[in-house]
Amino acid sequence: MKEKLFLISKELQQKFPKFGVNKIRELTRLIFEISKKYGIQYQEIIYDITDKDYEKVKEALLKRRYPKTYCKAKKENFYLPDFDIGENDKADISVKNFNPKNVYYTGDVIDSVLYNRIRTLFPNANFCEIDSLKIFLKNNKFSTEKYNKRYENLFLVNEKYDFFKKCPCTKGVNCCNYSILNIGFGCLYECSYCFLQGYQNVAGIILPCNLPEFLTRDKIKPVDNKIFFLPRVGSGEFTDSLIFDDITLFSSDIVKFFKRNKDISFEFKTKSTNIGNLLKIGGRDNIVVSWSVNAKKMIEENEYCAPRLEERLKAAQECIKAGYSVGFHFDPVILYDGWREGYKETIDMIFDFIDAKNIKWISIGSLRMVASLKKVIEVRFPNNKIMDEEFLLSHDGKLRYEEGERVRIYKYLVDLIKQKSKDVVTYLCMEKTKI
Ligand code: SF4
Ligand code: SF4
Repeated sequence: MKEKLFLISKELQQKFPKFGVNKIRELTRLIFEISKKYGIQYQEIIYDITDKDYEKVKEALLKRRYPKTYCKAKKENFYLPDFDIGENDKADISVKNFNPKNVYYTGDVIDSVLYNRIRTLFPNANFCEIDSLKIFLKNNKFSTEKYNKRYENLFLVNEKYDFFKKCPCTKGVNCCNYSILNIGFGCLYECSYCFLQGYQNVAGIILPCNLPEFLTRDKIKPVDNKIFFLPRVGSGEFTDSLIFDDITLFSSDIVKFFKRNKDISFEFKTKSTNIGNLLKIGGRDNIVVSWSVNAKKMIEENEYCAPRLEERLKAAQECIKAGYSVGFHFDPVILYDGWREGYKETIDMIFDFIDAKNIKWISIGSLRMVASLKKVIEVRFPNNKIMDEEFLLSHDGKLRYEEGERVRIYKYLVDLIKQKSKDVVTYLCMEKTKI
C-alpha cells in the first residue's frame, strides 16, 4: 500500500510538476481509491487525465470515485485526508482466547472479588501494580501496532466517575434517551468498522473492579421513554457486554439488580455467545439480551473474531428459554452488491429462530463513523471493501452514506420487519428526525 501510494504520487508529480504537496496528496488519494474500488491499474487512471487545470482534474476524479453521489454532494462533503501508515499496523484477525500476559492493577483493587478471580484464572500472567491508568498511559506511548496486541494486557482499576451516563448520541439527531452502564473498555472481536480502534488510547482491556458499588438506585438514574414503555439502560458501548462475562461474572450483579428494579429495562448488547452465566442465574422480562446482527457476508468479511449469525441466534433462543427478552440491532447496515438479499436472509432467519413476541426491539443504523476512523480502518484492514462505498462528510463531522441512500436502506429493512411482525418496536439509531 505504501509503495503503491509512493508510485502514484511520484507519477503525478512528473505529470503535474506545478501542483503543490496538498494537491498531489488529494489526487493521490482519489486515484488510489478508484484503483482499489474498481481494480483498475493506477497508471491507466493517470493516463486518462487529459486536463492540466487542478480543479478540472479533481472534478473528473471525484466523478469517477463518487458516481452515485457526486451530483448531490457539495465540495466540502468529500473527505480526502492524507495516509498515515505505520510498519505493523495491520490487524491480527486470528481468533484468540483472552489469556493476558500482563495484568496491570491499581493498589485499591486488591481486595476486590474480580482482582482475586483474575489472580486465580491467570496464574502465569505478570502482575504489575501501577499508580494510575492515567500515569501509565502518559509513560507508555500508544500506537496502532501496540493496539493490535491489546489482548496481551489487562488493566484492573476502580472506576470513579464514568459508570453510568446518558448515551452521548450525536448532535442534531433523534435521540432515544438511552443510558449507558460502562462495564469495561476494549474488545477482541476485530470488527473492521469498530469505532474503538479510532477512539481507544489504551493498548489493553480495562475492567472495573468496583461495579457492585455503582449498582444502586441513587446512581442508576435513567431517562423516561414513552416508545419503549420503560426507561432503558444498557452496556456494550465501549466493550461487548458479554465477551468477558465468563471472567468477570458481571452479569450476576447486573441481573440481580435489575430483577429488583423492574421499572427499568436493562440491555446486554453483544455479538457474543458467552451466555453461560446468564443462563445459570435466569432472567426476567425487563432484562434484554440483544445481538448486533448483519448480513452473513458482512459478518464473514468484517466481524472477524465474532460468532457467526446462527450461533448468535441460537444463543438468543437459549436466553429466551432462561426468561430473558431479546433484541436485535442491524447496526451497522453496510452497503454492498447484493445487500438487499443479504439483509432479507438475516431478517428471515431471525423470525425463523425467534418468536416475535419475545423481541423487545430492533434497531437499524447505517454504517457511519467519525471521519478520522477512515484512516485507521484502511491501515488496520487494508483489504476491507466497506470503505469503497461512497461516504459523505455530514454536519457533525461523521462520514455517512448519502441521505437518500439511507432512507432506501431503512425503508427496505423496516418493511421486511413489519411484514414479519407489525408489533415489534423498530427504531433508527443516530438519525435525523426528518429521516
Ligand atoms: S439513538 Fe442510538 S446513539 Fe442516540 S441515544 Fe439512542 S442508542 Fe444512543
Ligand atoms: S463487537 Fe463491537 S466493540 Fe467489539 S470489535 Fe466489534 S464493533 Fe468493536
